[in-house]
Parts: sequence; structure tokens; C-alpha cells
Amino acid sequence: MDLIPFAAGFLTPDLSSFSNIRLLGTRCMDCDAAMAGPSRHCARCLSRRVRPIHLANRGTVLSFETQRHPPPPPIGMRASQERRIIASVELSDRGPRVVAEIEGDSPALGIGSEVKVIVGPGWRDAFGRQVVTYWFRLDASP
Ligand SMILES: [Zn+2]
Repeated sequence: MDLIPFAAGFLTPDLSSFSNIRLLGTRCMDCDAAMAGPSRHCARCLSRRVRPIHLANRGTVLSFETQRHPPPPPIGMRASQERRIIASVELSDRGPRVVAEIEGDSPALGIGSEVKVIVGPGWRDAFGRQVVTYWFRLDASP
């Protein structure tokens, strides 16, 4: 089965074991800003002194909303859903902030909730390939 990342350079390259996949990002060596995915310059200060990093696999919910429409292509949905919860999450270890779905519909979800990153199968692209993506799960552990 062909597996492809949801976006080039945002996941560690070996997609064969979902539990071993990490989110990739970029850190600025001048202002310490972190960005999701690859970048040749800092989005905050425009410095070109940046380096690739592994992002944390947990974070804190900053805000969230319920969406009742599908995401715009090429992003697909993991399952047929009438609604889904999308959250802005600040990843641990100094960011960055990322936006992704939170699975389930827990009444425990709130601003400041701790979540963990889950990587797994998303949707099929136009060529029938399995897109690998990430989402969040409420983290009940202390
Ligand atoms: Zn910077």
C-alpha cells in the first residue's frame, strides 16, 4: 500500500509504523521561534539560521471549534463525519502552535486541556494512496 504524508516534510520519512512517526518542524537559531514543517527561513524574524527539529508529541489546547463542513482539498477527512472538532494546540517544548482535529467529542475538552499527537491513516488521495496525517487525543494521564 502506498503511504504518503499529508504534506511533504511534515512527518519523519518512514511511514511504515504509525506509532514511530514524529512531526517535523523548524527552529530559528536567532529568535527561538518554532514552525511546523520544513522552512528555509524563520516566519517570525526572517533569519535564515534555522534547523530541522522533531516536534513534541503533546501539547495544550489554546482554542477549539466545531466544524460542520469538510476541509478544503487536498485535505480530506479521516472518516465520514457531520461535524468535527478542530483545535489550535501549542506543542510542548516551546511550540509551535498547530491546528488539527481532536478525536471524539469529550465534554472534558476545554481551553488548557492536555492532548497528545496521534499519527495514523487519514484519507485516500486522488491516486488512491493512503494519506498519513495527525490529530489530537485528550490526554487523561497526569
Ligand atoms: Zn527567528
